[in-house]
Amino acid sequence: MSRVVCIPGDGIGPGVTHAVRRVIDASGAGIEWIEASAGLATFELQGDPLPQETIEAIGKHRVALKGPLTTPVGSGFRSINVSLRKEFDLYVNLRPVKWFEGVKSLFTHLDLVIFRENTEGLYSGVEHYIDSRKSAAESVAIVTRYGSERIIRAAFEYARKHARKKVTIVHKANILKFTSGMFLGIGQALAKEYPDIECDDKIVDNMVMQLVMNPERFDVIVTTNLFGDILSDLACGLIGGLGLAPGANIGDDTAIFEAVHGSATDIAGKNIANPSALLLAGVLMLRHLGKTEHAEKIEGALVKVLKDGTSVTPDLNREQGVHTDNMADAIIANL
Ligand code: ATP
Repeated sequence: MSRVVCIPGDGIGPGVTHAVRRVIDASGAGIEWIEASAGLATFELQGDPLPQETIEAIGKHRVALKGPLTTPVGSGFRSINVSLRKEFDLYVNLRPVKWFEGVKSLFTHLDLVIFRENTEGLYSGVEHYIDSRKSAAESVAIVTRYGSERIIRAAFEYARKHARKKVTIVHKANILKFTSGMFLGIGQALAKEYPDIECDDKIVDNMVMQLVMNPERFDVIVTTNLFGDILSDLACGLIGGLGLAPGANIGDDTAIFEAVHGSATDIAGKNIANPSALLLAGVLMLRHLGKTEHAEKIEGALVKVLKDGTSVTPDLNREQGVHTDNMADAIIANL
């Protein structure tokens, strides 16, 4: 039995989490779920969006599966996702972007992986108004040598372990000569330790165009926090949308697995959210726990359901989409 902290989250979170847990349990992976809460609903109920018990549970069990958490825009509490990443020093944000047969999308056969630095850059939390009239504000991007080295090394190590051919460093070193320039310099130096892996770099504005025009040219991408956030949503759009994109936040001793999408309040409570993104996050989690066989079994079942296309949620099949729970039933039937 492996213990995993489960945070259902907000909006569509509880629905997709329930579906994913059913599939993982049915696979026989032997997970004991430790219930915990966080997010806007928790804030409304307890006055704290990230209760101490939740932090302690993750600290104790070191692996969590987390539904999306709503962060109020502009005001209110700070992003809980950002707080969790900082609390547990989850410096790698791993986002595989893979096309599945049967899914209508702009590109097919795409298979790339984004490594986003997860703890610093423009998301360091250093921002404030610079005068009492609030007429101007500043946000500080902090990029450290230590933080850059460990995310870039993680990308190269991943490439080597998974027989990937190329790592692309994405930056804006022509303008942001210190922060982005340092990141690029560190990447180019580290690349020399990995002569078996091709390394190139792209300025972020060129990169977005290249990703839209020729995404198959990329393999592993590594970049700083804000660029990684934007690039990974763009990449999800290339393979059929947010419903299929998993993410993992990984540190040296703790990992939190999640879907890339947010709480999607527009479809919350309707039982129509696609559970695939969180399920694929669950697959990453099972691999992290060494349960490779169960991970493959679940991914294989999902692949069949997506290919068949009749038991998928409305985001994938507008005419005959089924409920979240029915899609989960179909995946279970294919295990
Ligand atoms: P948040 O504020 O929590 O980031 P959001 O609504 O701004 O959430 P997302 O939740 O990421 O952003 O979703 C954007 C849109 O994509 C949603 O409005 C929804 O229609 C669609 N969407 C996201 N996730 C899913 C899903 N799992 N299944 C189906 N549609 C989804």
